Amino acid sequence: MATYHTKALILGSGAAGCTAAIYAARASLEPIMVHGMQPGGQLTITSDVENFPGFEHAVQGPWLMEQMEKQAAHVGTKIFHDTIVKVDLSKRPFTCTGDGGDIYTGDTLIIATGASARWLGIPSEKTFQGFGVSACATCDGFFFKNKEVVVIGGGNSAVEEALYLTNLASKVTLIHRRDSLRAEKIGQERLFKHPKVSVIWDSAVEEFLGTENPTNLTGVRLKNLKTDAVSEYKADGAFVAIGHTPNTQLFTAQVTLDDDKYIVTRPGSTTTNIPGVFAAGDVQDKIFRQAVTAAGTGCMAALEAERFLLAAGH
Ligand code: NDP
Repeated sequence: MATYHTKALILGSGAAGCTAAIYAARASLEPIMVHGMQPGGQLTITSDVENFPGFEHAVQGPWLMEQMEKQAAHVGTKIFHDTIVKVDLSKRPFTCTGDGGDIYTGDTLIIATGASARWLGIPSEKTFQGFGVSACATCDGFFFKNKEVVVIGGGNSAVEEALYLTNLASKVTLIHRRDSLRAEKIGQERLFKHPKVSVIWDSAVEEFLGTENPTNLTGVRLKNLKTDAVSEYKADGAFVAIGHTPNTQLFTAQVTLDDDKYIVTRPGSTTTNIPGVFAAGDVQDKIFRQAVTAAGTGCMAALEAERFLLAAGH
């Protein structure tokens, strides 16, 4: 077991973490970036990225993250593959403990742990994960070429996933628990107009149905929440698109979180309630959630950490 110290400790290696690392390294803070459970973050589970500035044509999410990490390493970031299981933010330097017992201490801490897709939480969901049930159409849609899929949810993600899947699947059914969507109107209009799309309203997925040997999804059991009627609906694939949960479990009780458990940062800043602790990317952003905004706040966090250290006389 070892102890590593840095002026800037960065948790998370998505667009926010990598950008914070690049800026912190170039400011001579000799940053340490700890990967976490999903190295590279959410962009590693997307395919085409065409809205990250700087590329004429679409680039692949995993490739983009590989480049960001290489850039962070190239300018001097030390990168560790570890999962932090405990943090102590009660005094400086802040202490984070990895699951193997290694200890990382930072004069400042940049939290860039991102957010994870939310699941329905019914037992059969786990059974069929990877065998028909997915939370990422851009990652897994390809497997359902010319097949019938359902998308669960009524927000922008659900509508985007459903529209994306129309490029691959033969039939796309959106299942929503209420009788109206919360997605933007323009997306709704495109969805309702699409000849491959139908919508089942007021319905919840009670169970994912399928075969056991081999494990394979064949459909969903639905309950109409207005009439209580139960029915079965054929589906080769099911995409759960019901929002995200910020990865803040480690910080509860130490960092101020909002009602949805996102880290609260001062407007126009990445500062948290703890001086010297900054938050960047999706862990503090439930509105934009874009790679470019995550990168932007990662940059802000590193600049703010640098200023904090200067003011603290480091
Ligand atoms: P949202 O929180 O906006 O929507 C989640 C949807 O899932 C809601 O329709 C909700 O239903 C439904 N839902 C939640 N829990 C359950 C459950 N247990 N069972 C069934 N349905 C459930 O999440 P999104 O991921 O769609 O979007 C998050 C944020 O990101 C939003 O601000 C959105 O605008 C933004 N976004 C923007 C995009 C863009 O601009 N291109 C793309 C994607 C997201 P109900 O409506 O009944 O609450």
